[in-house]
Amino acid sequence: MSNSLPQSIIPARLSEQQASLSGHLRLADMPRLLFSLHEVHAEEAEVELNFTQDTENFIVIYGKIRARLPLLCQRCFKAMVYPVDAQVIWSPVKSETQADELPAQYEPCLMQADSLNILDVVEEELLLSLPLVPMHNEAECSVKLPNEKQDADPIKSHLFEVLKKYTSRDYKL
Ligand SMILES: [Zn+2]
Repeated sequence: MSNSLPQSIIPARLSEQQASLSGHLRLADMPRLLFSLHEVHAEEAEVELNFTQDTENFIVIYGKIRARLPLLCQRCFKAMVYPVDAQVIWSPVKSETQADELPAQYEPCLMQADSLNILDVVEEELLLSLPLVPMHNEAECSVKLPNEKQDADPIKSHLFEVLKKYTSRDYKL
C-alpha cells in the first residue's frame, strides 16, 4: 500500500466532486522537516483527505495525517520514534487576507493560484506536531532518572517505624 499522492491538486474541483484522496508521501521529500529529523530512510506519511464545501461555500479539506517520525532523544541521545496521528480541517486560501476571513474552525492552507501543494501542507502539519524537546518515555529511555518513589519510600517507612515505636512506647507509659 504505497500509492503516492499527486503533488499538486485543484481543491475547488475536488470539493465539487466531493472527492477523497489517500496515499503516502515520503518524509525524505520534505526538506524543512528533514532538518529536524534523525536518519530518515524510507519512512512515509500516510495521508487521507476528503474534499467538500460547507453551507457558506467555503472549500473544506478534512482528514488524517499519520507518520512515525525518527527523532533523537534529548535525554539519552539515541534514536526514537515519535508517532503523529493528526486530524486536520483545512480551508484553502489565496492570500493572508482570505486567511483572516476564514471561520475559526478552519486552518488556512495557502494555494498557488488555484492549486495546492499537498506535500507542502502535510510537511507544515508535521512540523507543527514536532515535540519541543523530543524524549523517550521514561521506561524506554536508556538514561534512568532517579526514581523518586524508590528514594522516598525507605525514608518514609523508616519514619513510620520511628513513629510506631514512639507512639507505642508513649502508649505504654
Ligand atoms: Zn532516551
